[in-house]
Amino acid sequence: MNNFKYLKADTPAAAIAAVADNAASNFVAGGTNLIDLWKYDLTHPDRLVDINGLSELKTITELPDGGLRLGALVSNAATAHHAIVRERYPLLSRAILAGATAQIRNSATNGGNLLQRTRCYYFYDAASPCNKRNPGSGCPAIEGHNRLHAILGYSQKCIAVFPSDMCVALAALEAVVQVAGPDGSREISFSDFHRLPGDHPERDNTLQPNELITSIDLPPTGFAPHHSYLKLRDRNSYAFALVSVATGFELENKTIKRARIALGGVAHQPWRVSAAEDLLVGKAPTAQSFGQAAGIILANAKGFGHNDFKIELARRAIIRNGLMALNPSSQRPGAQPSL
Ligand code: SF4
Repeated sequence: MNNFKYLKADTPAAAIAAVADNAASNFVAGGTNLIDLWKYDLTHPDRLVDINGLSELKTITELPDGGLRLGALVSNAATAHHAIVRERYPLLSRAILAGATAQIRNSATNGGNLLQRTRCYYFYDAASPCNKRNPGSGCPAIEGHNRLHAILGYSQKCIAVFPSDMCVALAALEAVVQVAGPDGSREISFSDFHRLPGDHPERDNTLQPNELITSIDLPPTGFAPHHSYLKLRDRNSYAFALVSVATGFELENKTIKRARIALGGVAHQPWRVSAAEDLLVGKAPTAQSFGQAAGIILANAKGFGHNDFKIELARRAIIRNGLMALNPSSQRPGAQPSL
């Protein structure tokens, strides 16, 4: 680690100004991923701007339209256990609790969750080439160890996946990210926040320099009656998803009126395909219906060797999770619906 200066900001404007003043600055909140990156010698900030004193970003408040505003500095644990989140957005609560460990969830913030970086093995190995860490140096994962890597939305420059669980639920819920920056405030729809690698895998998201996430806004409805989050991983504890699925739908006369399906662990961003969600409208929530949706979602999926299995795993996960969403109260670790 390098020597660095430490500042504590009193207001969002002061924090933004302090970061804008020095190109090698970082905001720090929970620090759970930043410290990893620093210890692995992948980042060397000159200046840390501590935003933990910004009390206005530490609340969860109801919005006039019936939605819910999650402050960027509320911890993942406090969000998952908040009474309104548990009651109205249980899909989000379940997804958060599927991620990391209790200690990390206590420290990690909502804003930081959106900004965590890929867990690609080569990215964390400073001795390896990596287009995301060192643009133009190559992507050894394409021909190398790629068990955790993308089957959708990859590019010739990078096949990394975005590792968050929380964000998969936020994608299904169609959250909106509120940000503030040197030029004022703006909002970004969740589907536009994380980007595909394309020719610039070094850029994970669409934040502009020195912008600060201030909140994540949830819409009024959160699929409480019919939702499920399924995370499949190598061990049922602290591990990132091989494939995860967030499913929510509304039923009317025993058929699907509206559906949302988002996948994690398969692409550089939480993955949604609106054509698959549209196909489900008017259909009964059966294995056959979810299988048809899975066919659309995975139509362009491609493996890179070690991760070929993810295509079939994702297909089965979409079907299983759709059926689990029919009866959320029955969900428990290892619950298996009959297909
Ligand atoms: Fe780097 Fe992306 Fe390739 Fe991993 S997949 S080595 S992050 S360029």
